[in-house]
Amino acid sequence: MKRIEISISYCKVEEKELSEEDRALLDAARKATYRSYSPYSGFSVGAAVLLDDGTVVEGSNQENCSYPQGQCAERTALFYAGSRYPDRKILTICIAARGTDGAFTSSPISPCGGCRQVLLESEVRQKTPIGILLCGTDAIYRIDSARDLLPISFDNSYL
Ligand SMILES: [Zn+2]
Repeated sequence: MKRIEISISYCKVEEKELSEEDRALLDAARKATYRSYSPYSGFSVGAAVLLDDGTVVEGSNQENCSYPQGQCAERTALFYAGSRYPDRKILTICIAARGTDGAFTSSPISPCGGCRQVLLESEVRQKTPIGILLCGTDAIYRIDSARDLLPISFDNSYL
């Protein structure tokens, strides 16, 4: 029998437990939600990626009337970071969302399976873990590695 353990630390935004750097990243992710193109779902997601030189890259979900052609906020930001700054390492990605009522979600927003796979590839590519902040107004989850979000994952070690 194999036991898989996932470590997730948790903090409340109101307690100001976020570092100044993480707080700035949260603000960037929240601002990115306002650049979402989500006329079909009404669910506006923003992602902010912090690179090792201090650059912050933002992305938002971009929907399409042909639904599968849309793109999640996380992948928009990760692919932009990879194409614009291929030699920089990603330190942290922060994700926030607003629902159909326009308010930020109270529960932390979590990346879909496809984005988890892309996060993992980014981590494998740069050979260092990526911190992940899943943000809601009631709570924020900090996860230390993309691998924790995708246990028993498929990666390039199979190829
Ligand atoms: Zn996604």
